[in-house]
Parts: sequence; structure tokens; C-alpha cells
Amino acid sequence: MRTETKCIEAGYTPKNGESRMIPIIQSTTFKYDTSEDMGKLFDLEASGYFYTRLQNPTNDFVAAKIAALEGGTAAMMTSSGQAASFFSVFNLANAGDHVVASASIYGGTFNLFNVTMKKMGIDFTFVDPDCSDEELEAAFKPNTKVVFGETIANPALVVFDIERFAKAAHAHGVPLIIDNTFATPINCRPIEWGADIVIHSTTKYMDGHDATVGGVIVDSGKFDWMAHADKFPGLCTPDESYHGITYAERFGKEGAYITKATAQLMRDLGSIPSPMNCYLLNLGLESLAVRMERHCRNAEKVAEFLKDHPKVAYVTYPGLPGDKYYERAKKYMPNGTCGVISFGVKGGRAKAEEFMKGLKLAIIATHVADAHTCVLHPASSTHRQLSDEELVACGVMPDMIRLSVGIENVQDIIEDVAGALEKI
Ligand SMILES: *Cc1c(COP(=O)(O)O)cnc(C)c1O
Repeated sequence: MRTETKCIEAGYTPKNGESRMIPIIQSTTFKYDTSEDMGKLFDLEASGYFYTRLQNPTNDFVAAKIAALEGGTAAMMTSSGQAASFFSVFNLANAGDHVVASASIYGGTFNLFNVTMKKMGIDFTFVDPDCSDEELEAAFKPNTKVVFGETIANPALVVFDIERFAKAAHAHGVPLIIDNTFATPINCRPIEWGADIVIHSTTKYMDGHDATVGGVIVDSGKFDWMAHADKFPGLCTPDESYHGITYAERFGKEGAYITKATAQLMRDLGSIPSPMNCYLLNLGLESLAVRMERHCRNAEKVAEFLKDHPKVAYVTYPGLPGDKYYERAKKYMPNGTCGVISFGVKGGRAKAEEFMKGLKLAIIATHVADAHTCVLHPASSTHRQLSDEELVACGVMPDMIRLSVGIENVQDIIEDVAGALEKI
């Protein structure tokens, strides 16, 4: 199946007389005839369900669809993108370990790594994604366990050189995790470029309708844990908390990572989405390919319009010819990038605030990447406590506006933006 077909068909194939849509198994518990039957599940000798804190069939249909879309061998749904980021790293790196991460990542991920996971004893080195080979080499330490980057960084719109970072990670015997939220598997499949694990905030384009918060972790099944057994004792030595199972031996390259994340992390931390939310997410996935195409075509036209406007200071959009990341985006995302654009209004913070007041169609929201066009001026909302100098220091320009282009008629979006620019 090709990608567009997988959006509709992958993950669930009804048998004769069964429901066409994935069933919503809204149940915490599953019944067994004998204790022996259930015992086999606990020993991971048989596959099946026993308690929805660890696994649920509805969720697994959706996980299988996303695994197929990304070209992975196994996947796990999580209750949020944040939970996916946390689990994906914590499944490999524990207290005393070290992680190399791109400095251009989602703010929530940066905070998770730099504050919360540091408190857990995990050390992070953040590297400029465009750093020199020497700088990248110097970031690795003997206790480095994983490398982390974002295909198109939210909100900086920096395109990550996946192939380069995959090579560097593999040369050091560790896997590369990619947050592919903004590109989606419609526009980029990081596993094809060497990534080992792919995560998403499904809250964004995958759901696409402002309906559910969620996340997913996909394993490529390619990383050879046993070849680096000294680095990954959690996968390559017996798990005493789980009946002495050695995940990499029992489940191989294809299944070890996700089985450990389910049996250990989901069991202990319980960040599982509700089956109902996964059902709603699946509806979004069915139209993902069609929507992404429209998001990209609309955003390209809006970016072109803004580029030539006399009241606009600059436009950042990797799908716009001349953008710093245009060429790299063409390599990794030949069919389009995403719907998110950032631009500056001439006249700084005050003029940007005026622009926001003039919009009629675009809604003001902290959210991005869904069907509705929405817009945010960080300097007057999320970052309003900061002075202009402080804003610049943390990489947010006072005049910067983030526009998430929806799938409405593009002429309506352009007229809305044009009207608001007119008024300032
Ligand atoms: C929103 C977002 C997250 C966090 O996801 P939630 O679902 O909000 O927890 C992670 N990464 C990226 C790129 C995001 O845009």
C-alpha cells in the first residue's frame, strides 16, 4: 500500500461481518477462562490484553496504522506528545546517562529535558542543528545513550539534517529519535533517512481537528541493541521487575524497544490515551494525506503573499524558495513541509499587536497545526512578561507572528491577513 492508502486501510482489517470502523473497546479489564491463560500474558508468552493501563485493542489498531505510515515495526500510543517524548528517551537513558539533543526543538520538549529530566539525573547537551562536525563530535560522551531532533522545529521552523545526525549517532553506537510532528509521515519518513525511533504529538496534524491530545512512539526495528549491549542494559539484561525477561533476546530488534516501553514504562507511569481518543484520532488519520497537501499548498501561497508585502519585515517558511532551509526541505520533504509560517511585521511589538487585532478569520490560539487557521503573537501572549531584550535573548523576535495556515479557501486566508496588514 502507498501512504495515502495506508491512512485509510492500515492497522485494522475487519473479518467477515465485523465493523468497518475500529471498535471502541471502552473497557479497563479483559476476562480469561483460567489463571494459566492469564499467567501466559503476564510472562509475555502469549499476546493479549489484561488491563488498559498497559494496552488496549483500540489504541493498538491506531498504533499499527501509524507504524505502517512511518515504516516501523511496532508502535505505542501515549496520552500526549510530552509523554511520547519522555518515554522515548527514558526507555533508553536513566540516571547517570547523557543525551545529545538539537537545540531547535519544541519549547515543551526543551523544558522536559533541561529541567525535569535533569532532576532525574539525566544529562543533556544541546547542539545547534547546523553546528560543525567537530562541535557535533564533541557533544558525545562515553555515557551518551541517544540523539534527539525534530524534523521541522516548532516554532523556529529549522529543518533538521536527519541523515547527518543518524550517521553521527550510529558511529557512537546509539539510536536517533526524531520528533516528526510538523512534517507528518505524509511529507517525511525519518526512518528512510536513518532514524531509529520516531515520535509524534498526534494532537497536531494527525488529529487535525482540535479534538484530542495524544502522542505516539514508533520503532523502526533496525537498531541492534545486542550489538551495543553494554550501553543498553535495560534491553539486554534480565528485567527483574518483569519476570526476568531480557527484551532484546525475547523480542528481537523488531519488538524489544516497544515491548519494554509498554511492560515497564506504561505499567509504572500509566500515560495511556483513552480508547475513545484513539478512535477520534483514527478519524483524523484517514484524511491526513489530503489535509497535508492542502495545508502545504495554502501555506506556500500565504508565504508568497507575505514575502512581497511592504509592511512585512521577513518571512520564515521552509517551503518558500530562498528560505535558509529550502534546499534541505526539498531533500527530506519533496512534496511539501507543513502549514506553519512565521513572519515579522515592520514596526516591532506594537505593530504586531495591532495586526492581531485586525484579524477576523484567523483565531488567536496557542495551538498550531490543525484545520483552522490560527495565529499567535508570542510577545503579547505566551511571552508577554519578557522585555524586548529578553525576547531576543531567547530567540523570539518582538515582531514575530506565528501563523498556522488551515485548510480553508486560501483566498479567504490571504484576504484576512491582507486586511489586518492594511489597518496598521
Ligand atoms: C505540541 C508538540 C509537542 C507536545 O505535544 P502535546 O501533545 O502537546 O503534549 C511535542 N513536539 C512538538 C513538535 C509539538 O508541536
